[in-house]
Amino acid sequence: MPQGIIVVSYIAATILFILALRGLSHPETARPGNLYGIIGMTLAILATILSERVTTYGLVISAMAIGGAAGVTVARRVQMTQMPELVAILHSLVGLAAVLIGFANYIDPTASFEGTAKTIHELEIYLGVLIGAVTFTGSVVAFGKLCGKISGKPLLLPARHWLNLGMVVLMALLGKWFLGAEGLAGGLASLTLMTLIAFALGVHMVMAIGGADMPVVISMLNSYSGWAASATGFMLENDLLIVTGALVGSSGAILSYIMCRAMNRNFISVIAGGFGTEGGAPSAAISGEVQAVDPEETASLLTEAKNVIIVPGYGMAVAQAQHVVAEIVKTLRVKGVNVRFGIHPVAGRMPGHMNVLLAEAKVPYDIVFEMDEINEDFPETDVAVVIGANDIVNPAAQEDPNSPIAGMPVLEVWKAKTCIVLKRSMATGYAGVDNPLFFRDNTRMLFGDAKDSLEKVLSYLRQ
Ligand code: NDP
Repeated sequence: MPQGIIVVSYIAATILFILALRGLSHPETARPGNLYGIIGMTLAILATILSERVTTYGLVISAMAIGGAAGVTVARRVQMTQMPELVAILHSLVGLAAVLIGFANYIDPTASFEGTAKTIHELEIYLGVLIGAVTFTGSVVAFGKLCGKISGKPLLLPARHWLNLGMVVLMALLGKWFLGAEGLAGGLASLTLMTLIAFALGVHMVMAIGGADMPVVISMLNSYSGWAASATGFMLENDLLIVTGALVGSSGAILSYIMCRAMNRNFISVIAGGFGTEGGAPSAAISGEVQAVDPEETASLLTEAKNVIIVPGYGMAVAQAQHVVAEIVKTLRVKGVNVRFGIHPVAGRMPGHMNVLLAEAKVPYDIVFEMDEINEDFPETDVAVVIGANDIVNPAAQEDPNSPIAGMPVLEVWKAKTCIVLKRSMATGYAGVDNPLFFRDNTRMLFGDAKDSLEKVLSYLRQ
């Protein structure tokens, strides 16, 4: 295919990716956004395959068939609750690809760079492999933590900051050796050593990050995977990959910043790890009694209410209760109750998790509010219904300076006249922190699987 058409296709794909990002920023425009992304990616793949650089079609098509089949199978099988893990493992593949492409580029016998061009090319390889390796192992550990295969508790090695610094210094020294290496053997040795250290750094960095800080880590790894793809673009001299990687890298960085702000956390201290786990006084003891409620009482509290705010959390995703929640909302609205949703920025296990579920259940967008938009309204609310949420409604974040989640903004559900909490037990949430909300005078616990409990509530509401 003529080079001109390829360039035009790349520009069109870039524009489509930008439109996709824009569309994906709101549930109402997410569907067309997704479509732009699909068209852009198809165009990008076709233009790349048809470019003069690809000469071995058999190999490319077989690789695409294997990768595509694996992708389709995984995407079809994955449950909505496993989506965050899938995203984490996909990031790891981007990182691994950057590492492999870096090595392949370095040993490529046809490469003929000289002088400054050679140094720049090798610098691209070195940085690409470094970012890729950190992204790869970091994402694998994040995957393990999200699916519970690795404990959510931070692993804090002694002198861990010095350890991180030592690894960074060592990688810089190896970089100097790599750039000055005369033969392939010396270069390969330094590149391999650096890769092993970067693998270790990725593991160590994410292992040291505890429960409530994971959202920042996920978006940070998302950003790293973008920069790794961008570095791969430089290695392969592919402008589209450079731009696409930069789009992912910068949007991931912005998301990390937003997440940090939502958690009231400083980015550097999140990366340094071990939030709220060192020294300090123990968390405040919890007093009070747990008061259970049954579905019938819950239904009558809801029917008598004028204002209701529903706060969904990870448990709603586990129970797949979003459809019955939507039915309850419909029924209550018919009865004249003002029902709204309050969404915490880190509710669930991935950014926008709750919005996706509510959109799937066709809950109208105009009754779904961000935490900052609705938090002031709890004192005027008759019933706050917490569906499978825990950390995001924990008053200890505001009241106990020694709590591991102290300072994290939370939805102030305890300020409503009555707060009903749906969960199966008294277990803690992702951050592993006890929640005094369950012991408050105005809290009622509706124990059981959220979907089962809400189905019973709905049947009483319909009576
Ligand atoms: P939490 O993990 O704090 O709490 C979820 C609660 O749901 C649990 O306490 C559990 O209690 C309950 N639950 C689980 N299954 C069911 C079920 N079938 N029916 C009823 N209840 C159920 O979730 P939140 O949404 O409140 O907070 C999110 C947490 O995840 C935060 O700590 C956040 O930092 C972290 N995180 C968020 C990410 C993001 O991007 N959004 C990414 C990674 C981590 P029980 O077992 O008793 O039922």
